Amino acid sequence: MAFEGLADRLQNTMAKIRGKGKVSEADVKEMMREVRLALLEADVNFKVVKDFIKRVSERAVGQEVMKSLTPGQQVIKVVKEELTELMGGEQSKIAVSNRPPTVIMMVGLQGAGKTTTTGKLANLLRKKFNRKPLLVAADIYRPAAIKQLQTLGKQLDMPVFSMGDQVSPVEIATKALEHAKNEHHDYVIIDTAGRLHIDENLMEELEQVKSIAKPDEIFLVVDAMTGQDAVNVAKSFNEQLGLTGVVLTKLDGDTRGGAALSIRSVTDTPIKFVGLGEKLDALEAFHPERMASRILGMGDVLTLIEKAQTNVDAEKAKELEQKMRTMSFTFDDFLEQLGQVRNMGPLEDLIGMLPGANKVKGLKNLQVDEKQISHVEAIIKSMTKAEKINPEIMNASRKKRIAKGSGTSVQEINRLLKQFEDMKKMMKQMTSMSKGKKKGMKFP
Ligand code: GDP
Repeated sequence: MAFEGLADRLQNTMAKIRGKGKVSEADVKEMMREVRLALLEADVNFKVVKDFIKRVSERAVGQEVMKSLTPGQQVIKVVKEELTELMGGEQSKIAVSNRPPTVIMMVGLQGAGKTTTTGKLANLLRKKFNRKPLLVAADIYRPAAIKQLQTLGKQLDMPVFSMGDQVSPVEIATKALEHAKNEHHDYVIIDTAGRLHIDENLMEELEQVKSIAKPDEIFLVVDAMTGQDAVNVAKSFNEQLGLTGVVLTKLDGDTRGGAALSIRSVTDTPIKFVGLGEKLDALEAFHPERMASRILGMGDVLTLIEKAQTNVDAEKAKELEQKMRTMSFTFDDFLEQLGQVRNMGPLEDLIGMLPGANKVKGLKNLQVDEKQISHVEAIIKSMTKAEKINPEIMNASRKKRIAKGSGTSVQEINRLLKQFEDMKKMMKQMTSMSKGKKKGMKFP
């Protein structure tokens, strides 16, 4: 997981001070020494670290006393606020031009994930904001970049404007804008050329595209795994082009976090989105406060709720709840529920969003075995209708048949049946409890 080392170290440091009823200057000093090391080890820019420590120390020592928090908790609050500030404070929103189309220019070095992110961003704009983007293939140098964008367009069922690789990017951008106006696209996302390194020619060309496309946003795509290099790249691009935002990709890898924590301070450009995988829905708006909360082990319940809202069908959830109440929950419902949860993304990521999850033994290094989940699905799909509704009829020969049909074993089937039974028992207890409550019974 990204930020794991940093999160671990900061959380250990915070744990030491949390319960303190009195925090002396020496306590703060000791804590700041540990925080400083943790940040440096996470590859955060040294100047950024220095400023951060200075700000936190000043505030932590001389702060006003709040009744609701212990002094230890107050220090943690300061750390969280400053960490949030470091990453940009408020979440920054994507521009909307009052003279559509809104133009977004994507820039970055080769391999950072620019083309993929162009597709992801278009997907997000349509899915979340109901927009109608046009993708523009203006990377005429990287072999296969145009083809790659066209493939993404096909997957998304979204139009891609291209003129091949023999026309200049400036001309492509000009024609693309005309086309977008005629076809009433409200967003135009231009995938520009990257290079392996920053060079004069690249910058000149990007400046030309910028001057004719007059973009509302210029997003730099950088790879989080490259740490301080990403920060340097962002600095150069910003000086030459004037960026409006950064997209940090590959945050699903085990990046130490340096880029995420330094980019804003060094370049004064906010991180607007983060890439969390290769799939086209693996792009999220960047929320500094939620990220700070995640790093400090306070969880990210808001993102979890948002994921549930976009991916879980509310009607179906209601139906399910009804079934639980009336005890008519079957294996088919179980399968459906499993599918909905899987839609929300990898289970490890979801667990990582729960407060304190990485402090719970067993949960921290939990590897959800996708194979096991697929087995459960295969087993249920091999059951007959009667078996799904009424698992009690399951005898040895039925189990053997299902094991064969699903490519699993009788033991696995027994385990699933037991889990299902336990779950039903738990539901029964819960529903009788809530009935009891209505009658005014008291529970400890
Ligand atoms: P470009 O040269 O900047 O256009 O880079 P591409 O869009 O071709 O991406 C380079 C590689 O990075 C591809 O294999 C992508 O699938 C991968 N990639 C892009 N974004 C992410 C991300 O957020 N997470 C992961 N794991 N891979 C990514």
